[in-house]
Amino acid sequence: AASGGPTSIRQVKLDKECELRIEVAETPFRLRLLTGTAEIFGTEIPPEIWLSLPPRLKFAVFTWYGATIEMDGTTETDYTADETPMVSYVNVHAVLEGRRNRAKASPGDSDASQGPRVIVVGPTDSGKSTLSRMLLSWAAKQGWKPTFVDLDIGQGSITIPGCVAATPIEMPIDPVEGIPLEMPLVYFHGHPTPSANVDFYKVLVKELAQTLEKQFSGNAESRAAGMVINTMGWIDGVGYDLLLHAIDAFSASVVLVLGQEKLCSMLKDVLKNKPNVDVVKLQKSGGVVSRNPKVRQRARGGRIREYFYGLANDLSPHSNIANFSDLSIYRIGGGPQAPRSALPIGAEPTADPTRLVPVNINRDLLHLVLAVSYAKEPEQIISSNVAGFIYITDIDIQRRKITYLAPCHGELPGKYLIVGSLTWVET
Ligand code: ADP
Repeated sequence: AASGGPTSIRQVKLDKECELRIEVAETPFRLRLLTGTAEIFGTEIPPEIWLSLPPRLKFAVFTWYGATIEMDGTTETDYTADETPMVSYVNVHAVLEGRRNRAKASPGDSDASQGPRVIVVGPTDSGKSTLSRMLLSWAAKQGWKPTFVDLDIGQGSITIPGCVAATPIEMPIDPVEGIPLEMPLVYFHGHPTPSANVDFYKVLVKELAQTLEKQFSGNAESRAAGMVINTMGWIDGVGYDLLLHAIDAFSASVVLVLGQEKLCSMLKDVLKNKPNVDVVKLQKSGGVVSRNPKVRQRARGGRIREYFYGLANDLSPHSNIANFSDLSIYRIGGGPQAPRSALPIGAEPTADPTRLVPVNINRDLLHLVLAVSYAKEPEQIISSNVAGFIYITDIDIQRRKITYLAPCHGELPGKYLIVGSLTWVET
């Protein structure tokens, strides 16, 4: 393993089924494919063309048949690995492919026309997002339009953290740009972990599943392509219950368990009465890089920044000013509860976790990220998806004005806003 070499152009020859694992440093780095074929997380890289990779990206260039890669720039680390679980991953893809073809050949039959619904589970940093991405890109390469569902509200590969979301994948996912943000279906939880409000998280997962179900019923193509569902790394206690809830809500037919024997046998056991659900254990790749809480926190901020400013600072968000009276802001659940002492003896304090609590505008909202709901009435807020997000940059109590950053200029697509605990400090 070579690391942190001098800034120079160098070539690496990869044998078949090997990968070059790279952690980009803070400085510019690019690479290109000189000979052979290679892919980054399931997406083929074009020959000859230099690809610039963003700082701190951790990725691998894998080749099925052999390739020569040229690199330019320093890296944190780069090394070649000849042991990868890629063959087992592509075998899963082949099985899914067979199921998609069968689904496509059975139009009209409501059960048989449903393609595979794959859910990827495992501890944090087991390579769940990466495997999801590969399965989606391989499927898209063969002309399918599978739906990507991301339930990982801690990171979020479709939109900002704090959300559950889904989007069709029509092309192999670009290794640099990620998932194109064309009208994803997004539900806002508002917190970077579901534990802040578990019941609300479940409500949103259920809503997302039901909305997709409706969409599928009118779209044979996406129905046959099926879905790939990425989940959180929280797999104990409540986290485990949430996995079971997601498997049930989406009627998953394939559960891929990455790198954890115990989780796999627990799931096999609870799902053994469901003959239509396959639980498959897969090896974790040795290339997966662990990220500490600080790195995660930083990645969260990065995703929010990217939403407003674009990956390469190529978007220009607008700073808008609204009157307090123009906006109705709500929080879901929480709020003041009756203290135990104020209740009749024996009664438990009940806080409805999905209660809608109106929020008074004050300086506590500064630096929070709010979602703009599609709801037309307050009662619809809990079950509505969101159009996008704003970021509060100033509150003028005296003049009753609120300044916020939005991706575009002009009126917001709705007047109801949802606030949670998602903050961001612009840097
Ligand atoms: P999880 O979703 O389980 O938390 P990820 O798929 O996000 O894990 O992987 C964690 C990190 O490891 C990511 O930065 C990812 O790009 C990186 N990574 C995954 N597989 C490889 C690999 N084979 N080589 C290099 N980096 C990898």
